[in-house]
Amino acid sequence: MSIDLHCHSTVSDGALTPAEVVLRASANGCRLLALTDHDHTGGLAAAHAQAKQSGITLINGVEISVSWRGRTIHIVGLNISPEDEVLQTLLGRLRSGRLQRLQAIADKLAKKGISDAYEGTLALATNIDMVTRTHIADFLVRSGHVNKKADAFRKYLGDGKSCSVKHQWAELAEVVTAIRHAGGIAVIAHPMRYELSATARRNLFSDFKACGGEAIEVHSGRSNLNDRLNYALLAQQFDFLASCGSDFHRDGDFGGGLLGCCPELPPICKPVWDHLAD
Ligand code: AMP
Ligand code: MN
Ligand code: MN
Ligand code: MN
Repeated sequence: MSIDLHCHSTVSDGALTPAEVVLRASANGCRLLALTDHDHTGGLAAAHAQAKQSGITLINGVEISVSWRGRTIHIVGLNISPEDEVLQTLLGRLRSGRLQRLQAIADKLAKKGISDAYEGTLALATNIDMVTRTHIADFLVRSGHVNKKADAFRKYLGDGKSCSVKHQWAELAEVVTAIRHAGGIAVIAHPMRYELSATARRNLFSDFKACGGEAIEVHSGRSNLNDRLNYALLAQQFDFLASCGSDFHRDGDFGGGLLGCCPELPPICKPVWDHLAD
């Protein structure tokens, strides 16, 4: 059975609509899919409608932005109830902070001679309520300031680069609590992407566990077997369930795998999907 518990649609920074995401995943052989847009659950209804038609099981998901000890970490919530007020209040607050951050980044870009980044980015956003650095990178490509999106991150938008803005996202404990309040399971997204020392990673996993986190992604995007074995062992040590996700945004994108398709997890893993209702 092909399973993918992490992907994006036009409701955040993906290129396919929620229905297109489900159709594509289904065409790729996926039977169990979670749509996990950044800080937004607005695509779930349309995704469910398509999932019913396509005969594929859709899990309600979300990927929430967290600031932990000065770093940005992403926490996926699986099986959340989108109606939950505590969760929606948190997501609403994160989204309004995003517009303020866009303005701050646009101000920095203006000082580099790049004007109109605020309006230009909003004009390209697929959802005005959910503007990400991906959209700012799109603006920089389309306005001819860089050749490709990766260069926009390398030159301007990546952490610590000339026009990056340090942003305060939600607290780890608050996010895990909100996911649990909404009936979901909290999962550390793509732990292999944070460039953490072994000590920092242990601290993150312990903090996450202490506030009620239950799972980590053992596979993300285009992970290799070595990553999967490492994170399977870490999941075992910390008694975490194991998840897997393509983190698909668009074809040929940075880090993302094939939508709907993930490799088998190492046999020592306890799969998170055994704990998701169908
Ligand atoms: P934000 O949440 O607005 O900070 O945007 C983060 C998003 O930007 C991530 O979810 C990725 O989709 C994308 N992203 C981050 N780093 C890169 C990169 N180096 N190249 C391309 N996309 C990136
Ligand atoms: Mn993204
Ligand atoms: Mn992420
Ligand atoms: Mn993601």
